[in-house]
Amino acid sequence: MTHANDLANQPLNVAPALAKKLDKLGLRRRLDLVLHLPLRYEDETHLYPIGAAPYGQPVLVEGRVISHEVQFRPRKQLMVRLEDASGVLVLRFIHFYPSQLKQFADGVLIRAMGEIRRGFHGDEMVHPKTREVVEGSPLAESLTPVYPTVNGVTQPMLRKLIRQELKALPLPETLPEPVMARLGLQSFADAVQLLHSPPPEYSASQLSEPGLPAWQRLKFDELMAQQLSMRLAYRARRQGQAAAIRGNGQLRQAMLATLPFALTRAQQKVLAEIDADLAQSHPMHRLLQGDVGSGKTVVAALAALTAIEAGFQVALMAPTEILAEQHYRKLSGWLEPLGLTVCWLSGSLRKKQKEQSLLQMANGEAQLAVGTHALFQDGVSFSRLGLVIVDEQHRFGVGQRLALKQKGQEPHQLMMSATPIPRTLAMSFYADLDVSVIDELPPGRTPIVTKLINSSRREEVIDYVHKTCSEGQQVYWVCPLIEESETLQLQTAVDTHRVLAAQLAQWKVGLVHGRMKPDEKAAVMAAFTSRELHVLVATTVIEVGVDVPNASLMVIEHAERMGLSQLHQLRGRVGRGSARSVCMLLFENPLSELAKARLKVIYENVDGFEIARQDLLIRGPGEFLGARQSGVPMLRFANLEEDIELLEAARELAPEVLQRWPEAAEAHLERWLSGREQYLKA
Ligand code: ADP
Ligand code: MG
Repeated sequence: MTHANDLANQPLNVAPALAKKLDKLGLRRRLDLVLHLPLRYEDETHLYPIGAAPYGQPVLVEGRVISHEVQFRPRKQLMVRLEDASGVLVLRFIHFYPSQLKQFADGVLIRAMGEIRRGFHGDEMVHPKTREVVEGSPLAESLTPVYPTVNGVTQPMLRKLIRQELKALPLPETLPEPVMARLGLQSFADAVQLLHSPPPEYSASQLSEPGLPAWQRLKFDELMAQQLSMRLAYRARRQGQAAAIRGNGQLRQAMLATLPFALTRAQQKVLAEIDADLAQSHPMHRLLQGDVGSGKTVVAALAALTAIEAGFQVALMAPTEILAEQHYRKLSGWLEPLGLTVCWLSGSLRKKQKEQSLLQMANGEAQLAVGTHALFQDGVSFSRLGLVIVDEQHRFGVGQRLALKQKGQEPHQLMMSATPIPRTLAMSFYADLDVSVIDELPPGRTPIVTKLINSSRREEVIDYVHKTCSEGQQVYWVCPLIEESETLQLQTAVDTHRVLAAQLAQWKVGLVHGRMKPDEKAAVMAAFTSRELHVLVATTVIEVGVDVPNASLMVIEHAERMGLSQLHQLRGRVGRGSARSVCMLLFENPLSELAKARLKVIYENVDGFEIARQDLLIRGPGEFLGARQSGVPMLRFANLEEDIELLEAARELAPEVLQRWPEAAEAHLERWLSGREQYLKA
C-alpha cells in the first residue's frame, strides 16, 4: 500500500484516556479525524449589538459584566448581566461550577454565543458559550465548525486535532480522473478542506446544503466504497464451487398437476431465474422477494424439486416453530405423494424422533428437511446437501449464520423475504445478492379493507366478529405488544382470551402465544387450520408466514404500538381466500406523532413496497437491515432517498472501477472502510 495510506492509518497520537473517548466517536486512525465532518457551523465572524440581535438563531454578542448573582428561586441558577452600548442581556446558567463565578467579575469583557430569547427578566441566553476577550480582539474570519462529540471532548480540542491532521496527512485522490470528470466531482482534498475550514464567503446555510459540491463528493465516496465492497463480496462468492444442478422437470410437472391453481407469471419468472442460478457451478445467493401472500412457498417447493431430481438434498429453514411446522405440513403434503421423504427437525423434538430425522438427513433418505435453525446446529449432517432455502431471511440473527461449506462445496442458497426491501436499499445494502421479485399477487383475491377503530368501540368490533363467524369465516385477534415485559404480554393474551371466549360463547376461541410448548402451539394451529376453532387469539407469533385462507377478519389491538412492517405482515394473514377480508386496527388515544404517521401509512397503502419505502423514510435504514446491519458499513453522509442519483452513479461505475483501476479501488476502500468489516457473510 502507498505511503500516504500508511500515515493515514496510523493510530491517533493522543494520550490513552483521550484515545478512549475518541474511540467512542469512531475516531481511531489519523485519517478518521479528517473524515469527522462538522454537524453544523456557528457564525463568529460578526458581532451583533445586544439591542439589535435577532431572536431564534445563534448570535455572537460582546459586552461588559455589570452584575452576577446566584439565585435560589425558583431554582439554583447563575445570572450574569451583560451590557453593551445598545442594551442589556442576561446570561443564565442552570448548571455551573463555583469557579465559574470568578470569570464573570464585574467589568470583565465577555463574548457570548447563543440564541437570545425573551425571558422572565428580559432578553436572555441560556447556557451560552462564553469567553473573556480584550477590547478589539479580532473576530473569526470564517465560520466555526461544530463537530459531533462525546463527554470530555470539547469542540476546541476536536478542532485542533482535526486541523493538525488536515495539514499533516497527504490526501491523495482515490477516484480515477475519468470518473471524477464524468460526474463533475471536486477532489477529496478540496472537499474536506472546505467543510472543515470554510472560506469566509460561505454562509452557514450554504454549507449545510446537501447539494454543496463538497458534500456531494463525500457522499459519492461513501456510496462508491459501499458498492465496491459489495461487488467484491459478490465476486468472492462467485468464485466458490457448487454443484451445477439441472432437473428434467418431471417432479415439478407432477406437483404442478396436483395444485388447484396455476402459477402466476411472476412466479414462473422467478423460478426461471432460480433454475438458471442452480445450473451454475458456483453457489447461488438469491434473495426472493415477494409481498405477503404472493406465493413464495410454492416457488420454494418447486425449486427444491429440481435439486431433488438431480439427486441432492434440500434444507428449508424457517425462523419460528409455528412457521416451520406449517411449511413441514404443506411441503409434505405436496412432496410425499410424489414418493419423496420429508423430515422435520426442531429444537423441541423428542430425542427419539430427533435421532430418526438426523439419521434420515445423514444417510440421504430424506430428500427434504424442514425445520428451525436446529437444522444447522452441530451434530447435523447431510449426505448431499445441494440447496438451502431460508424463509423470512431477515429474521435470522447474525449468530445464526449458516456454516454450510462442506468439502470445498457450498450449497446454493435461496433466501426468501416478505419484508419488501425498498429499491434504494436493495441497490445499496443488498447489492451483493441477486434479487428476484414476485411482483404480482395470485388472482382472485379481493382487496383487504382496513379500518382504524378507536378501542372504545370494541362492542362494534365484537359484533363484527360474530357476523364473520356466522358466515363461516374465521378470525384472528392479535393481542397488544408489550415490549417491557414478556410476562405481562402473556398475561394480556390469557386475559383477552378469557374475555373473548365469554363474549363469543357460541364460537370456539383458541389461544396461541410464544410461551406455549411447540406441540401445544402446533395443535392449536392445526385446530384453527381445520376450522375447529373459529377465533384465534394470538400474540404476534403469527406475524410471519401463517397461512389459513379461510380467515377473513384480523383484529389488532393497540395497533399504535406496532411497527409498519409488523402491521403489514399481520394484515397479510387475511385476504388469502376469495372472501372479502377486513383488518381492524384498534388504537387508543392519545396517539404519538410517530404512531399517527404509521397508522396513516398502513391505512392508505396495501402495497408492501410502498409501505416499506415509507417505513424507510420514517425510521431510516438501520432498523430495516436487522441481521445485515452489523456486517454492513452504515452510511454516514449519504441518504438513500435524497442521494438516489449518486447511488445510481456509484452502482453503475463500481464494476468499471474494479476492472480498470483496481489500485484506486483498493485505496478507496482502504480510506473509507478500513477497520470495518468489509465482506458480508449472511
Ligand atoms: P407468501 O409469499 O406470503 O409466503 P404463501 O406462499 O404462503 O405466500 O402463499 C399464500 C397463499 O396463496 C397460499 O394459500 C398459496 O397456496 C396460495 N397461492 C400461491 N400461489 C398461488 C397461485 N399462483 N394462484 C393461487 N393461489 C396461490
Ligand atoms: Mg411465506
